[in-house]
Amino acid sequence: MSIALDSGEARFSLPSYAPRLLTLAGLLAYVGMLAVAWWAISARLPDQIPLTIVGHAFSLKHVHDKILSTGSILLLILPSAFWIECAVVGWRQSSARALLAPTESMKTDICFFLMEQLHLNGMIGKVLMLGLSIISGVALRDWIAARTGFAIDPTVLPLWPQVIVYFYAYSFFDYWAHRVGHTKWFWPLHRYHHAAQDFCVINGGRIHPAGFVGIVSINIPMPLLGATPEAMIWVNVVTSVLGFLIHSRMETGFGWVGRYVIQSPLHHRLHHKLDMSTPTGFFGMAPIWDHLFGGWSECRDRNVAVGVDTPYAQGFWVMPDLLRDYWDFWKGLVGRRTLSPSEQITR
Ligand SMILES: [Zn+2]
Ligand SMILES: [Zn+2]
Repeated sequence: MSIALDSGEARFSLPSYAPRLLTLAGLLAYVGMLAVAWWAISARLPDQIPLTIVGHAFSLKHVHDKILSTGSILLLILPSAFWIECAVVGWRQSSARALLAPTESMKTDICFFLMEQLHLNGMIGKVLMLGLSIISGVALRDWIAARTGFAIDPTVLPLWPQVIVYFYAYSFFDYWAHRVGHTKWFWPLHRYHHAAQDFCVINGGRIHPAGFVGIVSINIPMPLLGATPEAMIWVNVVTSVLGFLIHSRMETGFGWVGRYVIQSPLHHRLHHKLDMSTPTGFFGMAPIWDHLFGGWSECRDRNVAVGVDTPYAQGFWVMPDLLRDYWDFWKGLVGRRTLSPSEQITR
């Protein structure tokens, strides 16, 4: 198939993949512009800025790292995920187009994305988790090192092997935290993520603020395993890109890569399936853990409906659903919550 441009006597014909190639070229040009902007900022802006506020002098340190870590998600990783998806599925099927006229479910995703960028999720989480998220793995590591002299030093390895090792370590803890999220006790908190009725790139940020996955998969184990901040920045980049892509509208299983190396959009869609009459699988960002611990199946249904059988209001005003789930969680812990049909299935 080709796209024909008829202009008077001349008739040009573009191959059907031309728009996708143009999209990819646009992405490369955008990334190039960002690289130039970053080079200009780091060349002109000092890494340490002296400040005086209300008569107190102090200095803002590691300015370049701060800009890089906060700006990279918003300016590089997220736009790249939108762009890659668009190049694969085309503009009509893309999340970017869908978000211009969002469904009620997508409005919730937009709200969560904004709350995350404004650091509101973390603040609400500290209250709802009764301060549990304040536990610092770094402090724990230093405490153990001071008393026992034991500390893992990964810097014997170059940075890239460290990133690979810590990505798989992270995905191991994330896998088990995710499986715990699917037990009847913790399901009400994880259910909020599964309540999305439409997949779109930003869907991964729809996480109940009282969820504990971040604490038990990153905050505590990673510093205990000696992960350096440099390695964790890159692990965070990899997991952020993957988090956006597995919730995209690309109907791909990534071939053998999706079976053994990293999770694919197809397998994550199967994880979100509405029909819970068969056990849920595909818990891991790295599929190897599903193969080892029984979360893997060979199901390949690409048209599976996603969502949960618990009613959700959706939309921008997320508080009622959010508080109902929090209340359900506590009721479940003391055995006073009735299970919905899907919750009665062994996960
Ligand atoms: Zn899940
Ligand atoms: Zn998901």
